[in-house]
Amino acid sequence: MYGRIAVLDKPFGEFKVQEIPVPEPKRGELLVRQVMCGVCGTDVHIYQGRLPDVKYPLVLGHEIIGTIEKLGEGVNRDHTGREVEEGDLIYVIPALRCRRCYFCLDLRQPNLCMDGTAYGFNPYPDEPPGFYGGYGEFLYMRHPNSEFLKIDAKPEAAVFLEPLTIGIHAVSRVEIHVGDVVVVQGAGAIGLSALIAAKEKGAFKMIVIGAPKSRLELAKEFGADLTIDIEEIEDPKERVEIVKSETRGGYGADVVIECTGFPSAVPEGIDMVRRGGFYAVAGHFTDAGPVMINPYSAFTRKHINLVGVWSSRLEDFIRGRPIIESGRYPIEKIVSHKLPLERCKDAMEAMIEGYRLDGKEVRKIVIQGGL
Ligand SMILES: [Zn+2]
Ligand SMILES: [Zn+2]
Repeated sequence: MYGRIAVLDKPFGEFKVQEIPVPEPKRGELLVRQVMCGVCGTDVHIYQGRLPDVKYPLVLGHEIIGTIEKLGEGVNRDHTGREVEEGDLIYVIPALRCRRCYFCLDLRQPNLCMDGTAYGFNPYPDEPPGFYGGYGEFLYMRHPNSEFLKIDAKPEAAVFLEPLTIGIHAVSRVEIHVGDVVVVQGAGAIGLSALIAAKEKGAFKMIVIGAPKSRLELAKEFGADLTIDIEEIEDPKERVEIVKSETRGGYGADVVIECTGFPSAVPEGIDMVRRGGFYAVAGHFTDAGPVMINPYSAFTRKHINLVGVWSSRLEDFIRGRPIIESGRYPIEKIVSHKLPLERCKDAMEAMIEGYRLDGKEVRKIVIQGGL
């Protein structure tokens, strides 16, 4: 049997669709038939050559949902003990942690693993490209540290599990109490994920700041109480005042979660936090440059809790799965485009230039190996 993969040859290169033999999973391994794979901002950064550790050529894609094509010997449950059989829909947890380094073993913070890799990030750089990323018809889970979860939801909703884990991880780093006001800066996939996670943790009032209007409307459908359109209210100071006016005593939000990737959002977001509140930087997965901050007024005088958020953990996937399975949020509405392997480059270009493709706005593009 043969299957197709879309191979990116170099930064800003071409995605060449190749046919290669489909491997037979051995003991402990798994062969997955890709149903869809979300296109992430990180994929675009790899396309642009902005992740220095990633080697080319490679098969991109780490938001992978698929059905079990073939179970290797001894594989009969997912990582929460749910029984699996061929044909079941599963989420491929992309990260492949080493489980040996100081951070994995001693500190038990595997998201900080020193020696890890991931599906979609070329886990086997010394071999020719294979079924090791989501932009292909199959995914071959041969790495011994592979993890997956069976998921009972529409693929269009289930595909959002990996982005959702970033929001879940972010809110696990802050305190949210009954009655709290939480601000999310950014209305992209990570912003929506932080919105869902903060609501699930008990936020009383959710404010989402971003653009364009259609994304803010989606944020409202997901439960945002107030949205602030940065294209309408262009002055950051004015945005800070609006946030403050929505909080107890006008002192500022209890928690602000940055999900924009723009350095200038950070000082603005810190201005929105009340004294003693939390600020989580969850949107900076690549280096977008520095920003000026006054440590006295931003941190010390405000006694602020500042946290960074890097990647996510198995635990975040396990916590996110029931949220998606519940159908409580119209998550499937995030998928705006379904493209075949031949159109990976169109996806990259749309996300670099203006977030429009085929005459409509891009929310989340998915690549489908079966198209
Ligand atoms: Zn991603
Ligand atoms: Zn490790």
